[in-house]
Amino acid sequence: MALTAGIVGLPNVGKSTLFNAITNSQVLAENYPFATINPNVGVVEVPDERMEQFVSFYKPKKTIYTTFEFTDIAGLVKGASKGEGLGNQFLANIRQTDAIVHVVRCFDDDNIEHVEGSVDPVRDIEEINLELCLADLDTVENRIGKIAKKAQTKDKDAAREYAVLTKLKDALAAGTSVRLAEVDDSDDYIKNYGLLTAKPVIYVANMSDEEIADPDSNAYYQKVKEFAAAEGSECIAICAKIEEELSGMEKEEKAAFLEDLGIPQSGLDQIIKAAYHLLGLRTFFTVGEPECRAWTFRDGMKAPQCAGIIHTDFERGFIRAEIYSYEDFMEYHSEAALREHGKIRLEGKEYLMKDGDIVFFRFNV
Ligand code: GDP
Repeated sequence: MALTAGIVGLPNVGKSTLFNAITNSQVLAENYPFATINPNVGVVEVPDERMEQFVSFYKPKKTIYTTFEFTDIAGLVKGASKGEGLGNQFLANIRQTDAIVHVVRCFDDDNIEHVEGSVDPVRDIEEINLELCLADLDTVENRIGKIAKKAQTKDKDAAREYAVLTKLKDALAAGTSVRLAEVDDSDDYIKNYGLLTAKPVIYVANMSDEEIADPDSNAYYQKVKEFAAAEGSECIAICAKIEEELSGMEKEEKAAFLEDLGIPQSGLDQIIKAAYHLLGLRTFFTVGEPECRAWTFRDGMKAPQCAGIIHTDFERGFIRAEIYSYEDFMEYHSEAALREHGKIRLEGKEYLMKDGDIVFFRFNV
């Protein structure tokens, strides 16, 4: 279930600085042997306060967080959709991601050139979005060319696809991202074509260390926030330079540093959580003295499927799940107390797992 978010943005906006913070925070390969280690990919733990509570209660021998992957996407310039710069490579890399983290420059610094000559994050966003729309338009037009003849004969499937494609084409030609276009019946097609503008986006406003304690004081950020809200996307304020510094620190040091700066939470941590959630990923836990572990599942999964994430035998021989909530854990702590108060539920094959469930699976193979 390794989903990945690609980091994109114009040159000199702070992408590499952010990506450095990600690779410095990268998980240890020995604890996560399943994680792919590739220079363009950074695998980080998903921060979770609940795990910290389990760890302080159980003092487990082993603690394993869930992880999330970020992919560094090589720089984009105007004209990428027509093959300028690293254009084609860039687009191919984005195609393989599940979500887009779009970094924009919200800091002034005369020593750092802006490719467009001035700081204007909304213009920058529109520029990249337009390149992505043009690339998708190409994809859609290609496909239209392939099925147009068939659609004119009595092939119902082709006619239906043709109708959807034409609507997508009109939206893209008007500069509307597919995720914002209202086209009925289009989900399967969009998935099959791997359209770039269909991917969910998080906008990241990179601002200076002086402003990050009070992001709203940054006028650029206000504009990005409005833009994001208008399209129903999330917007997160960070200072990439601070994130890079934080990424070299131990947990306690990190907390003290953030407090000194008056920042409630690391921006990178916010991005990780937002991307995880945006992609419909949720977490359940298995806890105890030997190991406290967070597991990723997809929203909508039932208990046996989640058991299968731990081991295929657990799914095959699934009998039932014994489950309690995080809130009940915080109130009663020990398993004995939870049992005594009837807080451990027995759930069967149809149970829809919830974020925060603490589980013990019973199985028999
Ligand atoms: P990229 O081209 O998007 O990968 O941008 P980089 O991460 O290489 O950053 C470009 C330059 O801007 C580097 O010199 C960074 O040190 C600098 N930079 C990044 N974030 C900030 C920031 O918040 N404030 C200032 N003043 N400079 C920054």
